Amino acid sequence: MVVSKSSPLIFERSREGRYAYSLPQKEVESQSVNDVFDEKFIRKEKAELPEVAELDLVRHYTELSNKNFGVDSGFYPLGSCTMKYNPKINEKVARLGGFAEAHPLQDESQVQGSLEIIHSLQEELKEITGMDEVTLQPAAGAHGEWTALMIFKAYHQKNGQGHRNEVIVPDSAHGTNPASAAFAGFKAVTVKSNERGEVDIEDLKRVVNENTAAIMLTNPNTLGIFEKNIMEIREIVHEAGGLLYYDGANLNAIMDKVRPGDMGFDAVHLNLHKTFTGPHGGGGPGSGPVGVVKELASYLPKPLVVKDGDHYRYENEIENSIGRVKPFYGNFGIYLRAYTYIRTMGNKGLQEVSEAAVLNANYIKARLKDEFDIPFEQYCKHEFVLSGSKQKEHGVRTLDMAKRLLDFGVHPPTIYFPLNVDEGMMIEPTETESKETLDYFCDALIQISEEAKNDPDKVLEAPHHTIIDRLDETKAARKPVLKFDGLHAEKE
Ligand SMILES: *Cc1c(COP(=O)(O)O)cnc(C)c1O
Repeated sequence: MVVSKSSPLIFERSREGRYAYSLPQKEVESQSVNDVFDEKFIRKEKAELPEVAELDLVRHYTELSNKNFGVDSGFYPLGSCTMKYNPKINEKVARLGGFAEAHPLQDESQVQGSLEIIHSLQEELKEITGMDEVTLQPAAGAHGEWTALMIFKAYHQKNGQGHRNEVIVPDSAHGTNPASAAFAGFKAVTVKSNERGEVDIEDLKRVVNENTAAIMLTNPNTLGIFEKNIMEIREIVHEAGGLLYYDGANLNAIMDKVRPGDMGFDAVHLNLHKTFTGPHGGGGPGSGPVGVVKELASYLPKPLVVKDGDHYRYENEIENSIGRVKPFYGNFGIYLRAYTYIRTMGNKGLQEVSEAAVLNANYIKARLKDEFDIPFEQYCKHEFVLSGSKQKEHGVRTLDMAKRLLDFGVHPPTIYFPLNVDEGMMIEPTETESKETLDYFCDALIQISEEAKNDPDKVLEAPHHTIIDRLDETKAARKPVLKFDGLHAEKE
């Protein structure tokens, strides 16, 4: 497929004097830049901006959007990322003028509706997580992890336990967990998984000590396996004076089934941009609310939005607050989408979400189990990990199969993660996909596995049908070409 010829860059489309805008008639006298700005701030040469007509501009952006891949263009089973459908009604609500045009500096009397949404969402998330208080401020999952760990730290310090400087993290954890622990000034200590993919209780007993500040757990964990010993884990960590942190980025296996609060966790973060259908990928904005038990409520970031009678207001008097973690009140547009989602689904809907997410993952797992090595055999929750170890015997690696999936119009699953699975491929279909899509994906993977045996070059040289073929990934990472270097730049 030759695309570069038919879709010139915006700079190649440029012709001097063309423009895609028209300004309203001016109502003031023209001023020379020299009268307004100091000489040293004025450009010596003209900015090299493309000059194009409106239609060229529209085609430029339309082409870019066509080259992009998202949930709206195809199946995106990226494990641990919950690339589920983002309902369009969310967008409609987020664009309502009263919300979209509200200004964060407006007096609270003028934004009662927006504050009501914030407060109601806090209430909904308390209910869903089983926590006593929720802040919406953190801007992403990792930011929520860090916020909760700072709360833990302040709590330990206040209780004369400031020496607690270790945070236990399973070897299967999402990479943000140890990173957040380090960022909050703790030492991340690894606890091993056992042969069932669950936290190894004996190893946990070994790593817990008087310096344990907390354990961070994902449950179901990133292998898609429910930590059924959670009550014992809770006991061991609490007994040692540590706190339990729940990574709830992907809550869509357990919503309205079981709550982190009921499992004994002290704090939890959620990703509104995963579980609660905020769009993500491409850099945000996100939202990572944090819920805590009542013993930790006085440490939350301020302000919280509270309700006094019929009136909503910002509460800044929070006794032990760790302070602000985000300017203003966080990413309000994402709250609107999450709130719309929760209210359109209702309790029963959220329950069905969890059931379908788990069913879909188990369906794919069952269909692939004869063709691929599946290291953890028990039923999974919303995702599972398979191993490409059988295919590796034919010289085809998981990376190659992932590239070949591109030819089928599928975004590849997460690969080589978690690190404790050889040639891992982590598949999370989400609840929003139809059986036909799941079957298409399974057929594709089975075909690729057969190619690995009979025609390995086809897989090794993939992708064949994409705009560009396989990149030199090392070079792309080490010497990325991020800038257009003129019309006739040498193709390296
Ligand atoms: C996505 C994810 C995170 C991090 O969320 P961000 O919003 O990307 O910071 C943390 N934990 C798990 C399990 C995740 O899937």
